[in-house]
Amino acid sequence: MPSADAAVAESKIPGDGRGLPPAEDAPKVQLFASRIKVYPRMVVGYWRQVKWAAVAVLLGLYYVAPWIRWDRGPGVPNQALLIDMPGRRAYFFGLEIWPQEVYYLTGLLIMGAIGLFLVTAWAGRVWCGFTCPQTVWTDLFMWVERMIEGDRNARMRLDKAPLSFDKVRKKILKHSAWLLIALATGGAWIMYFYDAPTLVREFFTGQLTSAVYSFIFLFTATTYVLAGWAREQVCIYMCPWPRFQGAMFDEDSLIVTYEEWRGEPRGGARKGQSFEGRGDCVDCGMCWQVCPTGVDIRKGQQMACIGCGLCIDACNGIMQRFGRPPELITYDSINNQVARSRGEKTRIRLIRPRTIAYMIVLAVVAGIMTFGLSTRARLEVNVLPDRQPLFVKLSDGAIRNGFTFKILNMRREPKSYMLATDGLAGAEISVIGHHNEPGPYVELAVGPDEIGTFKLFVRAPLESLSGKLTNFDFYLIDQATRESVRYTAVFNGPAHHDERAAVTAGAGS
Ligand code: SF4
Ligand code: SF4
Repeated sequence: MPSADAAVAESKIPGDGRGLPPAEDAPKVQLFASRIKVYPRMVVGYWRQVKWAAVAVLLGLYYVAPWIRWDRGPGVPNQALLIDMPGRRAYFFGLEIWPQEVYYLTGLLIMGAIGLFLVTAWAGRVWCGFTCPQTVWTDLFMWVERMIEGDRNARMRLDKAPLSFDKVRKKILKHSAWLLIALATGGAWIMYFYDAPTLVREFFTGQLTSAVYSFIFLFTATTYVLAGWAREQVCIYMCPWPRFQGAMFDEDSLIVTYEEWRGEPRGGARKGQSFEGRGDCVDCGMCWQVCPTGVDIRKGQQMACIGCGLCIDACNGIMQRFGRPPELITYDSINNQVARSRGEKTRIRLIRPRTIAYMIVLAVVAGIMTFGLSTRARLEVNVLPDRQPLFVKLSDGAIRNGFTFKILNMRREPKSYMLATDGLAGAEISVIGHHNEPGPYVELAVGPDEIGTFKLFVRAPLESLSGKLTNFDFYLIDQATRESVRYTAVFNGPAHHDERAAVTAGAGS
């Protein structure tokens, strides 16, 4: 029980007795803030040119790649890059991936991820700033917007202006252009899964299935919404990558940074005035006005900064106008910034423990992939033993097991194989439906690029079995190329010695 003193003390605590104010007096916390629309200003400079080059190359590759042809012979898709879902193949120029080889794609994804870790440790958010699809398409959509509605101030005026013919015209024009680009983007994505010329023809003649139309419109809508409307919100709120890429940075990673040590104290300035006793930043605001995510980099590193470098271009223009040294906002490492502020020598350190670790992992995965691809078999077998019955005792005392035998001929020509067993003395094979006498081997034919399925019986003398379970090998050899494959299987037989004896006795009687 609480003491009387404690009860008195408790009675003096306002609210619920735990020190919290009564619910009706609690300050209202707003968990939702409306988006403040970003109106990025156009900028010219080195990093803007790099970004235009990245946009041109990446969009060019994306739209053009499905149209590249690659002759693989008759009856086979001639699209260089194609994931053929109905045919269960992925084609990458001369490389053909079967469903059971999907681990190659996994390996490629792992290499891509490790490569991204390495590049991030070296050069910061170059993926986000220059090559991420969200960045590339947003750049394209912003360019269209600027062409139609004008630069930052004109767009802000237009949005604030009352409804007019000119405003409606510009908005309709902009959204129509966005939708057309989005449609081309959604359609191009489907072309990686569908023959490109056929897709275009069937799209306009209404011959595509409703599923294909649905996917095209889904990707069209996604592009339109993400690049046209959501823009920087995707990077700030939706994308997981900014949240864990900080783990790849260290003090030697290159990042976009403000040289506070020479920029402050900042303040307005006129052309030709002295900068004695003050910082170089003239507080013009151009750095955040050109920023596609609305970041003021002078406040330090922020998750919303995608590292695109446009603020560097903007500030360099201002510095030039005021006759001050460039790179007040610069692309540099934290260690170099500290060194610069002290007037010490700077250096770029590419070889560091974490980059060495990433390079080793990358080299190992690349080595495994290269070895796997260069030595991969074009012939595979799959064997499924019959479960019911496990074995049959034949009248001559032999034991028979049934198997479903599958041969994957991954070559473009028909093949004839010879199948034998190894490890079962006196074993004979017969194929159901082939009407051949049981013998030590059988010939099996499989068409080009096909899976041949055969129902087999293997019969073996009881004496050749080592017990209830006897390991043996199926041995398949390509009669033309001598390429071969082994598959270790289990032969079922009677469990106990007396049963085996009974079988033997039964056979002899
Ligand atoms: S652009 Fe440069 S000078 Fe202008 S506010 Fe930004 S940092 Fe200062
Ligand atoms: S702060 Fe600079 S580098 Fe970062 S996103 Fe904005 S413009 Fe790009």
